[in-house]
Amino acid sequence: MNAYDNAMRQLEKASRLMDLNKDVLARLSAPEKVVMANLPVIMDDGSLKIFEAYRVQYNSARGPYKGGIRFHPQVNLDEVKALGFWMTIKCAVVDIPMGGGKGGVVVDPKSLSQKEIEKLSRAWVRAFREVIGPYKDIPAPDVYTTPQIMAWMADEYSQLVGVPSLGVVTGKPVEFGGSKGRGTATATGGFYVLSAAVSELGLEAKHTKVAIQGFGNAGSVMAEQLEAAGYKVVALADSRSTIYNPQGINIKEATEHKIKNSSLSGLAGSQDMLPEEIFSLPVDVLIPAALENQITKENAASIRAKIILELANGPTTPEADEILRINKKIVVPDVLANAGGVTVSYFEWLQNLSNDYWSEEEVASELEEKMSAAWSAVSVIAKKYNVDLRTSAFITALERIAKATLIRS
Ligand code: NAD
Repeated sequence: MNAYDNAMRQLEKASRLMDLNKDVLARLSAPEKVVMANLPVIMDDGSLKIFEAYRVQYNSARGPYKGGIRFHPQVNLDEVKALGFWMTIKCAVVDIPMGGGKGGVVVDPKSLSQKEIEKLSRAWVRAFREVIGPYKDIPAPDVYTTPQIMAWMADEYSQLVGVPSLGVVTGKPVEFGGSKGRGTATATGGFYVLSAAVSELGLEAKHTKVAIQGFGNAGSVMAEQLEAAGYKVVALADSRSTIYNPQGINIKEATEHKIKNSSLSGLAGSQDMLPEEIFSLPVDVLIPAALENQITKENAASIRAKIILELANGPTTPEADEILRINKKIVVPDVLANAGGVTVSYFEWLQNLSNDYWSEEEVASELEEKMSAAWSAVSVIAKKYNVDLRTSAFITALERIAKATLIRS
């Protein structure tokens, strides 16, 4: 089953439970617009290469489309449609006035030079300039797209329209219209909702053991924040290694070790494990923060954690989700757990439109407010419908999208 089939299955389940208006369901069952382009790029050796590119504008009932651009060799239209749909849900869960969209380019960026990546990024903007814009559709980084790429894109768009237009993309460097706190926003947002879930279970930070799969932007910042708050991070994994120390891993030492050795393996005081073993450890919280489809029907039953916080997008397959539900695990779904990223992207856009900068403290306090409100709304709906948090997050979002759609029609 592909990602878009999964997404539509989630939509169908939530809409049935809440009895979603059938016209709203019909509108959400397909993207509003799909634009495809072939991007010509002159490579460093003088040859011409053509790259297939997409922008899916999934739904704009609540505001302009918002969502990242993915550079990846396996990008395909169904994946981009699914991601655009999930962005629609995510923006509504955290109640920011934006719709959902997503973009992609079929490319292995690791095989391109920086100059070639710049040309490709600028070509993307030229191809999609009519459909994007600060009040229409605001892309952002995603897998293998960076603040530097966003800077090239904002620059290209500004040159094309002849007006400085920093608000056309978010996730830019702080020196060029980016927001303070964007780099840590996903983990910080996840930390707020995890704290709420932990206190609902009556757990205390110092007695709460955590395993984190993925030690990149989201996972490593999360590890630092948890350690600072007194949690015991006992297991970490990256693409090459998985380590375990039941006494708690020193995150600063792990970071330094990884920089020096390009791997976590061999960190003093920790034992190396097989990648799969991270799922069955005796921990209270498991945080997938790497890739999609990591928690599957093969490993879901072995999970001992009480809480699974999905910092990654789509880390749990639908079959695994069902096993976790039967086993009474609390799964804080991606559309809520990692929504801090898009929330601070929205703050960045607000700052750009008002030609302003917010302080780190302002960003943090606005983010906390949005995440706590989202957690409360999703918890209330979960109790009202007696459903898991994923279904509840979908219902919360769909109620908001339905209201906007019906008021407008
Ligand atoms: P990243 O590339 O910075 O880090 C990914 C990490 O996962 C790396 O440490 C990598 O080594 C590790 N990894 C890769 N394959 C692995 C495997 N098989 N087993 C264990 N670890 C593996 O990416 P990121 O920005 O941290 O994003 C991680 C996830 O979070 C993605 O699903 C992304 O969509 C999601 N996410 C990120 C943000 C954000 O702001 N960074 C926002 C929303 C969602």
